[in-house]
Amino acid sequence: MNVPMLDLAAEYRDLEVELAAAVGKVIASGRFILGPEGEALEQEVAAYLGVKHAVAVASGTDALHLALRAAGVGPGDEVITPSFTFIAAAEAVSYVGARVVFVDVDPATYNLDPAACEAAIGPATRAVIAVHLFGQTADLPAIDAICKRRGLTLIEDCAQAIGADFDGRRAGAWGALGCFSFYPTKNLGAYGDAGMVVTDDPKLAEAVRMLRHHGSRTTYRHEMIGYNSRLDELQAAILRVKLKHLDHWNARRRERAGLYRRLLAGSPVGLPVEHGRGAHVYHQFTIRAPLRDALREQLAARGVASAIYYPVPVHQQPVYAPEYGSVTLPVSERAAREVLSLPIYPQLTESAVKDVCDALREATASAKPLRGKT
Ligand SMILES: *Cc1c(COP(=O)(O)O)cnc(C)c1O
Repeated sequence: MNVPMLDLAAEYRDLEVELAAAVGKVIASGRFILGPEGEALEQEVAAYLGVKHAVAVASGTDALHLALRAAGVGPGDEVITPSFTFIAAAEAVSYVGARVVFVDVDPATYNLDPAACEAAIGPATRAVIAVHLFGQTADLPAIDAICKRRGLTLIEDCAQAIGADFDGRRAGAWGALGCFSFYPTKNLGAYGDAGMVVTDDPKLAEAVRMLRHHGSRTTYRHEMIGYNSRLDELQAAILRVKLKHLDHWNARRRERAGLYRRLLAGSPVGLPVEHGRGAHVYHQFTIRAPLRDALREQLAARGVASAIYYPVPVHQQPVYAPEYGSVTLPVSERAAREVLSLPIYPQLTESAVKDVCDALREATASAKPLRGKT
């Protein structure tokens, strides 16, 4: 048995002809940076999400960084963000010279706990970055209400959740700014780094547009210190081809998640919990297992790949630990010890899901005798 975490080559085989035409067109045009493909992608993504403006940038990390700059967050400010996630949101806060305030997550969904978020608000708090982890939105109505009541800017980290929604409103369409990553392994992935910032506010959109292009609106007139963070035309053309397939791919991910759920019912592992008020797009299918590391080895021995997102919460990373040594976030710390993500991607076959579940059943049975030792 050999089940990988992801099979991008299989996706490519399905799209080879379309992609070759799109890429060939860009190369023949001779226009590679800030051109018609990027503009078309921005319009298509904005329409897809139901937002007014979208600005393509070089990566998801840049999207978060430029969003914070556009919102005017800087030295002396505090930004609340979860610790149980990828480091990029915290890094972006550090880039602008603001202070990260790490808060704990909901044990069922691994997303920002609204009560913990509200409790962490202080006089210096300027913004909240809500991360939609594993493909499911955070409790957006609750977090949005807190931000409105307390005068804070809500920024969404939608890197793992393109197409997910809460009450029919898509991830990215709730906050003042929504940040997306098109890293190759995301639900909508480029063939390199790529990202996007979305907003309904024309001023914020204009600010991000200037920041990504050396602080300029018109050629060689620089109004602020910006960056080189443009998305290139080749990546935009590739993403436009793939965007047409996104809903179908997300539906396939949900089907595979449903099959995992049926086959793993009654097994000793904890299954992902859906909030029930919108689509989870299953960027990851993440289970909980107390003997996680032993289980992972047993799966690997049976040819089944798995991954740990994330083994160390951000506040305990070497770079942040000296400053946040006194912070304890029990839900995040426990999740980091127990989570295990199983293979899930649109091309994953039903029989592969069955194989993974068989391997998992055998593995949990053989991991059992160790239980007393943990
Ligand atoms: C991937 C990811 C990012 C960063 O995106 P890049 O495009 O790799 O810079 C940020 N946040 C989360 C939650 C991610 O999964």
